[in-house]
Amino acid sequence: MRKIDYHMHTCFSADSNANPREHILMAIEKGLDEICFTDHKDFQYPGCPFDLDADAYFYTLRQLQKEFEDQIKIKIGLEMGLDVEFIEDINSFVNRHDYDYVIGSIHVIHQSEFYDPALFFKGKSKAEAHREFFMNTLKCVQTFDCFNCLGHLDYICRYGPYDDKHVEHALYQDIIDDILKTLIQKDKGIEVNTSGYRDLKTCGFPNFDIVQRYYDLGGRVITVGTDSHTSDRVGEHVEEVLKEYQRIGFEDVSTFTKRVRD
Ligand SMILES: [Zn+2]
Ligand SMILES: [Zn+2]
Repeated sequence: MRKIDYHMHTCFSADSNANPREHILMAIEKGLDEICFTDHKDFQYPGCPFDLDADAYFYTLRQLQKEFEDQIKIKIGLEMGLDVEFIEDINSFVNRHDYDYVIGSIHVIHQSEFYDPALFFKGKSKAEAHREFFMNTLKCVQTFDCFNCLGHLDYICRYGPYDDKHVEHALYQDIIDDILKTLIQKDKGIEVNTSGYRDLKTCGFPNFDIVQRYYDLGGRVITVGTDSHTSDRVGEHVEEVLKEYQRIGFEDVSTFTKRVRD
């Protein structure tokens, strides 16, 4: 299996100061075959503009692609916040540039993000909040076609005013199955986001039961990404994830050029 990191943020994202060159050097040091930068764009992220200066982003990364072309494959991607309140804005933003790969992620629902427990979670039980998150994810994957893989499928497990933030996936398995089936039908994939190994001290997210379910339902499009916002995390835990992919039965990870699978 090819060693890739298909989820990385740099100073072009509002929440990172990382220099893309440092990411590349770390990726080469770790022996990765291919990387993809996926800086953030969200429409109306509450309290913080998650804007992306796509022209400057492409200009900088094209130069780095050229400089390192003999050493590592570098793709230019995007982590697009999916939000059914901004369908036209999102589609036209993605189509304006030649991204190689687009992660579709749910960071905001009804203009509430998840960091502040007083917002999205207010007045809801944990089960109600989690159900709403997965229902919204289903609606997004049904609505949007502009992405290649769904980002961090159970992202909600990071947040909420609970001692135990763990998601009981079985309670929402019907919705999760619909999400996975919709992705498969649209020839779209999932990523395993390895930030869970460090932040949640468990495994990547989603967990490998969900990856197994995606495989059993016929899904074959998978990537792995570290969600690095600093260069020291580039490539972290990628090999563990690849071993799990192999155990499940996948032959290789997917890579993309201009939003088409290589
Ligand atoms: Zn994200
Ligand atoms: Zn990210």
